[in-house]
Amino acid sequence: MKFTPYWLDTAPSGPDRSRTDIGGHVDVAIVGAGLTGLSTALHLARKGVNVHVFEKETVGWGASGRNGGMATTGLSIGFRDAIGRYGLDTAKAYLLAYHDAVDTVEKLVGDEGIDCDFARTGKLSLASKPAHFDGMRKTTEMLAGLGFDQRLVSRDELRAEIGSDRFHGAAVDTKSAGLHVGKFTKGLAEAAVRAGATIHEKAPVEQFRRLGGTKHELVTARGTVRADQVLVATSGYTGRPFRWQQVRIAPVGSFIIVTEPLGEDVCDELLPTRRMASTSMNLLNYFRITPDHRLLFGGRARFTMSNPQSDEKCGRILQKAMTEVFPQLAKARVDYCWGGLVDMSMDRMVHAGERDGLFYSLGYSGHGVQMATHMGKQMAEYLNGTTSANPWRDLKFTRIPGHFGPPWFLPFAGAYYKFKDLLK
Ligand SMILES: Cc1cc2nc3c(=O)[nH]c(=O)nc-3n(C[C@H](O)[C@H](O)[C@H](O)COP(=O)(O)OP(=O)(O)OC[C@H]3O[C@@H](n4cnc5c(N)ncnc54)[C@H](O)[C@@H]3O)c2cc1C
Repeated sequence: MKFTPYWLDTAPSGPDRSRTDIGGHVDVAIVGAGLTGLSTALHLARKGVNVHVFEKETVGWGASGRNGGMATTGLSIGFRDAIGRYGLDTAKAYLLAYHDAVDTVEKLVGDEGIDCDFARTGKLSLASKPAHFDGMRKTTEMLAGLGFDQRLVSRDELRAEIGSDRFHGAAVDTKSAGLHVGKFTKGLAEAAVRAGATIHEKAPVEQFRRLGGTKHELVTARGTVRADQVLVATSGYTGRPFRWQQVRIAPVGSFIIVTEPLGEDVCDELLPTRRMASTSMNLLNYFRITPDHRLLFGGRARFTMSNPQSDEKCGRILQKAMTEVFPQLAKARVDYCWGGLVDMSMDRMVHAGERDGLFYSLGYSGHGVQMATHMGKQMAEYLNGTTSANPWRDLKFTRIPGHFGPPWFLPFAGAYYKFKDLLK
């Protein structure tokens, strides 16, 4: 079994960017070469801005190369919860931002000719308990009334969508898409460089000093640079130098296994429509078929940080969960197992803006494939002074109580969500 992300292992390796020259002055410095950083770099470079990206590891090393490859249309919180919090009009605007975000991914794939198996196969939200299906019915009726393309699938009809009898019905959204996120992230990096951006790998930003306004000096392990503007795009990997942002993000481990190639016939039985699927528990599982006909199966498994020991334990938990959903895979070999950090904000909403002269876009809360890419486009406008380009500008970015750096609270959060799942 490989403990590297399947997506990065099966994407073409890019050029070595770990020996580039770092120094002097740049217009915009971006910290982090994930989808947020790369998309911002591409959109700024297209406008002729001198933009440099500084990445601690390599392109796509963070969550962007480690996720499920699902570009879906929903918010991280339920739509009815969003209405309760923000009112109908604002909740609808937030939901539409996710629809726009999937469009942004599709447009970039087309415009830049990124070969990454993008397909609008849709999303299947599976009811793990009968009461969850009742909730889906209410949400679906509401969404349909607002003109969104979502429909219900009853338990009796579910076999047309999934080769499992474990669920009590589902909601289908047809706008969501799947993609090979390793090829997409690397393709975005190539597109940004083609447009004129520079990417520095193995260049962790260790300190920064404000020079006045939005101008900063960034000290990296490979040199010091001055920038007129800086964007922090470090999601769940936000560390010490960016303390204000760090204590507002809980880095929660999410884990994934990928089986051996199963063949088209087996995949036709498991997920005939090839939709992106997820269950309705708080500690949910998500799964999909990969372009080469394997099953990818992910979930929170344990509330812990990702590291090799924890990834292996989580892999075993996920394999058990996978065979509970698909008993026909009891003998399937698992070829890949890895973990990554999801950047959870207190309210599970995206937070983007400027604080003490530093720009940031973070808090995708497990829904960043589309939104991080979209926010790159929007932040390129926002840095230019177009405040309205940031759909999340009115949200208060609250500190996580008791968060001082190391996320000691994760096991307690895990116990809380397990308890909620028992009740619901
Ligand atoms: C296991 C898993 C499954 C997921 N599944 C999905 C999914 O199916 N669909 C979905 O929409 N979302 C999913 N997500 C969330 C999604 O992957 C993220 O929201 C998105 O990739 C965030 O992109 P980003 O560019 O903001 O951050 P990242 O891709 O995490 O990039 C941040 C980068 O910053 C770098 N960095 C940090 N500190 C520094 C520093 N000081 N100096 C230089 N570089 C630094 C890191 O090395 C990292 O590469 C998943 C996440 C995980 C972990």
